[in-house]
Amino acid sequence: MTTKYIFVTGGVVSSLGKGIVAASLGKLLTARGFSVVIQKFDPYINVDPGTMSPFQHGEVFVTDDGAETDLDLGHYERFTDTNLGRINNVTSGYIYQTVIKKERKGEYLGATVQTIPHITNEIKSRMKKAAVQFKPDFVIIEVGGTIGDIEGLPFIEAIRQFRSELGYGNSISIHVTLVPYLPTSGELKTKPSQHSVAVLRSYGIQPEILVCRTSKPIPKKEKEKLALFCSVPLEAVIECKDLKSIYEVPLALEAQEMAQVVLKRLQLLDKKPHLESWIKLVENIKNPKKTFKIAIAGKYTKLSDAYISVVESLKHAGYKHNAQIEIKWINSEDCVDYAKAKEALKDVEGLVVPGGFGIRGIEGKLNVIRYAREKNMPFLGLCLGMQCAVIEYARNVVGLKNANSTEFDEGTQYPVIDIMLEQKHIEGLGGTMRLGKYECRLKKGTKAHKAYGQDIIEERHRHRYEVNNEYKQQIEDAGLVFSGVSPDGSLCEIVEYPKNDWFVACQFHPEFKSRPEHAHPLFIGFMNAVNQKHKD
Ligand code: GLN
Repeated sequence: MTTKYIFVTGGVVSSLGKGIVAASLGKLLTARGFSVVIQKFDPYINVDPGTMSPFQHGEVFVTDDGAETDLDLGHYERFTDTNLGRINNVTSGYIYQTVIKKERKGEYLGATVQTIPHITNEIKSRMKKAAVQFKPDFVIIEVGGTIGDIEGLPFIEAIRQFRSELGYGNSISIHVTLVPYLPTSGELKTKPSQHSVAVLRSYGIQPEILVCRTSKPIPKKEKEKLALFCSVPLEAVIECKDLKSIYEVPLALEAQEMAQVVLKRLQLLDKKPHLESWIKLVENIKNPKKTFKIAIAGKYTKLSDAYISVVESLKHAGYKHNAQIEIKWINSEDCVDYAKAKEALKDVEGLVVPGGFGIRGIEGKLNVIRYAREKNMPFLGLCLGMQCAVIEYARNVVGLKNANSTEFDEGTQYPVIDIMLEQKHIEGLGGTMRLGKYECRLKKGTKAHKAYGQDIIEERHRHRYEVNNEYKQQIEDAGLVFSGVSPDGSLCEIVEYPKNDWFVACQFHPEFKSRPEHAHPLFIGFMNAVNQKHKD
């Protein structure tokens, strides 16, 4: 079958959950046995989101091949249970960089380089590349931002051109829009959606399907109005109500036969979906038997999207115990005082210290980790969280006073965490960390080995600093176990404190590989320990 294209745009406001809609449709199609590739096109000028603050943009999701990507790729992977890569996230910055490089090489043979056709051609070539490379049944392309944004225009224009190249029946456009509720008049309003579709149409794109984000069920009368004014059939006005769990969304869309509408418009026959295990998962999510209260101590706690994969991974591991997870966000900057750290952890059952950069909040992280270690509270450290666990142990157990990472104190007397040799001479911060998938060898008899049940694992990385091997022996002699190392033994990947039920920290990011139906082994190990101590 030739690849069919599904374009997903958003209207009225940002943060509508277009990524969840795209991922959910991907799920409905893969559940029918179709192969699907999902791509995100982001209109900002950054070449990738790797250099953006998590406060602004949320988490940077890392793929196996080491691409630093938009967090929506995390949703795509979790919903469709596939591993994505560099090709799945394209930004304006990347497109412009490519075009300007070609111009400098003289590849445009004297032409005036312009938005149309040069930028739009480059965008289209990325849209085609995924189809050539993977030959999937469907490519779903989500465009970031909101219709009407100036910076999104080249992408919308590229879609318009590409759709006419593809010809009738080979692509559809889905517009995700907001149907707000006005409490004063007690009404759901369709006008913003009508306007948004009018703008989309003015760019030459008539959507085939409307997905309407709403806080309340949309009555038939309003759906008819949307159908009439937006020129879509009634069956293609899909309601997408706020739900308790994002994993319910595919089933809510399936109940409205969204996949059938998509397939019909693409002149394809429907197949029976295999959603049995997903339905079971959602049943489980909707009927939790207990609640685990877990602390996440970091510095980006004001924006939960900054740690979205960590939160989702905790939930996935919680599902195995029929438990819902209540997150207690601890701003590590508030825990610089040990007494405050103690107070903050008083009412939680486990602690996660996730990744991060820079000195802000470090002393607070060391304090919460010390509390978890001393009180045998289940603890999981991720990347920076692992480096902090090593610093805490070096200071408070090994006795290396003021031990630190050279990231925070270049002149520290005991640099137990130091910049990796190959990172020392790198210039520029964009895309230059140790990124992506690397192997790690596990030590038999450790908690990590037991959790994975394997000798060699592969995990995704994003860091510049590492455990300084000069201190390894000293730290090990004092009781911390290095349970995972790189295959040549040169790089420490996992540490654990064997006296505790679960005190494990890793240099890599396991949160990028957890899936709702396959929770990650380290999160499972952590949650098993939480469950064992849990009192109803
Ligand atoms: N800042 C640390 C480093 O660069 C940790 C990075 C992270 O947590 N992703 O090594």
